[in-house]
Amino acid sequence: MGAYIGTVSAQRFDTVVVGGGIIGLATAFVLSREGQRVALVDDAVGRGATYAAAGMLAPGAESSPEHSLFASRALAARDLWPQFVQQLNQSASSSCELFVSGTVFVGWDADDRREWRRYFDTAHEQGIKSLDATRDLSPDLFLGLSPRTHEAQFVHSDAYVDTDDIVRGLRRALDQQGVVTYAHRALHCDVKDGEAITEIAGDTLRSRCGILATGYQGEPLEILNSSIHRLRPVRGVTLRLRADVQGPLPMIRAYVNGRHVYVVRRTDGTVLVGASSDESADLTIEAGAIRRLLEDAATVSPELDEATFVEARVGLRPASSDQTPFFDELADGAWAWSAGHYRHGFLMAPLAANDALAFSMNRLK
Ligand SMILES: Cc1cc2nc3c(=O)[nH]c(=O)nc-3n(C[C@H](O)[C@H](O)[C@H](O)COP(=O)(O)OP(=O)(O)OC[C@H]3O[C@@H](n4cnc5c(N)ncnc54)[C@H](O)[C@@H]3O)c2cc1C
Repeated sequence: MGAYIGTVSAQRFDTVVVGGGIIGLATAFVLSREGQRVALVDDAVGRGATYAAAGMLAPGAESSPEHSLFASRALAARDLWPQFVQQLNQSASSSCELFVSGTVFVGWDADDRREWRRYFDTAHEQGIKSLDATRDLSPDLFLGLSPRTHEAQFVHSDAYVDTDDIVRGLRRALDQQGVVTYAHRALHCDVKDGEAITEIAGDTLRSRCGILATGYQGEPLEILNSSIHRLRPVRGVTLRLRADVQGPLPMIRAYVNGRHVYVVRRTDGTVLVGASSDESADLTIEAGAIRRLLEDAATVSPELDEATFVEARVGLRPASSDQTPFFDELADGAWAWSAGHYRHGFLMAPLAANDALAFSMNRLK
């Protein structure tokens, strides 16, 4: 690793967190709440994949046979959210909410329904609980859905958060808890004389340990080369609409002629539509991606045709080779890389923060 340059900050921290997406923010929050002196380094807090996320906390949303360990961690992460929101509101004097709306899974045609049946065979084995629902017996679950949909699976424990609210709340909590935020890029991270060193323009921060929570980035920090893990970007787009949403409604996941689409209908009238996914680091949004999402969402929920289009957001999901998160210790344990949260960074954030807490406590002993 190269030598570090620049002024060495007079301040010493227990932990420096590099990257202020949902993983870095949650980590800095939990560590500082435990009384650690924490610095956060990011020149674009909350603007990575975090900015595009739909905020679904849905452990069963993407079960696959090879990911049973991840499924149990995802369920554990979902269970941490009520307390996480409560602690956040306490620290930030905010009023962030966790909406336990559940999700209805519907298929447009016979093949689409078969796709969900296959999917739930695996999900049930992994501990995801769902109920068979029919329009006749549970009409409330079908509110806003096309009259052509008559049967669904309902996962009642799925929840969502307003991602912008959570980011605002976390930033406020970090201020309250004395976290020092450096609006800079980390240029170089290293270890020297047993301390973690973080170089930013014009300063060098020293700490007992450091957490790298940089999501996917085009030019990885050199220190990450020592990890066995690699990340690739998976681009995703979410659309924000405004609609006349009546009351709390379940989230929708649908296959429409083989294409996957999800719709989050928030009580404040914001509707999020997503599910686009392609292996690319290009942050432009193609008109076709917007058209496909709108078309599929309005097929399954025709009233969305009346909604007002607000904006489209794009982000790069950080995907590891097996598409599950990792927490990897680097540089003789002075640093850890908390990454690979792919489609589940919001869901997994409280668990990732707890992993970072255990790591840093061990280091501070
Ligand atoms: C379209 C879309 C929809 C999604 N929907 C959901 C969902 O409903 N539920 C869910 O749980 N997850 C969802 N996700 C996934 C979730 O957004 C990601 O898993 C999560 O954002 C990853 O968090 P992160 O903090 O690791 O990375 P990011 O959010 O990308 O944040 C990384 C941060 O690190 C900073 N950074 C990078 N390099 C440096 C450096 N050298 N120095 C300082 N700072 C640096 C960046 O500026 C950025 O702020 C979605 C993602 C997308 C794209």
